[in-house]
Amino acid sequence: MPQVKGIPLDKLVPYLDAELCLADFAEDESANGLQVEGRPTVRKIGLAVDACEDVFRKAAEKEIDFLFVHHGLIWGGLKTIRGVMRKRIKTLLDTDISLYACHLPLDWHPKHGNNIRLLEVLSLKKMGEFGTYHGKKISYWGRTFKELSLDAFAARIDKVLDTRSSAISFGKNVRNVGVVSGGGWFAINEAERYGIDTFLTGEPSHSAYTLAEEMKVNLVFSGHYATETPGVKAVGEVLQKRFGLEVEFIDHPTGL
Ligand SMILES: [Zn+2]
Repeated sequence: MPQVKGIPLDKLVPYLDAELCLADFAEDESANGLQVEGRPTVRKIGLAVDACEDVFRKAAEKEIDFLFVHHGLIWGGLKTIRGVMRKRIKTLLDTDISLYACHLPLDWHPKHGNNIRLLEVLSLKKMGEFGTYHGKKISYWGRTFKELSLDAFAARIDKVLDTRSSAISFGKNVRNVGVVSGGGWFAINEAERYGIDTFLTGEPSHSAYTLAEEMKVNLVFSGHYATETPGVKAVGEVLQKRFGLEVEFIDHPTGL
């Protein structure tokens, strides 16, 4: 059998911390970085959007040593380890899998981030920064190659992200699109400033409706999960290229 090469966990973790600029996001609620320490050598890397039991089980079946997620287990400090949290942590410890989380830095990241990758996969030309969160612009607005109908734009998103968008038209065709992955409805407030005609985020928000209606900005909600897969997959590509290890995306779609 050929020798499976691996890299030390204590080499991979600082590499990711630096590459993803974790130090610039101290205010994030997510405890970004290595959350649960597993075996000291990493031969296979798994990537997923959410840290949950099903993903952990699949990771164990696939003999993954190191699991990278966008939504980790520890948010704002760990209070107790009981119930679901106990089971999740027990599964990780029993299987010796490391869990690494990267939340806000992964939305923001200018090369591997969810938002920049969303622009790329949707063929939007990056025009400028967009979406202020915790005092930082975490995303971009972009322009379509040519004007298209909202239905055509939503169909493009659904095809590329394998999702079912809910699109609400307030009369305009699509050209200038503000994008914020996940639960980014707050950024609708910036739409007028950048001349945006269409606002795309993951989760539907009731609060965004009347704002969008009065600004005459179309709304597209394409799913929190679906809009946060591109960055996670991008990190997989980076790690594959950098370390030559096997990487696998573990799909656990919520449809939300
Ligand atoms: Zn999210």
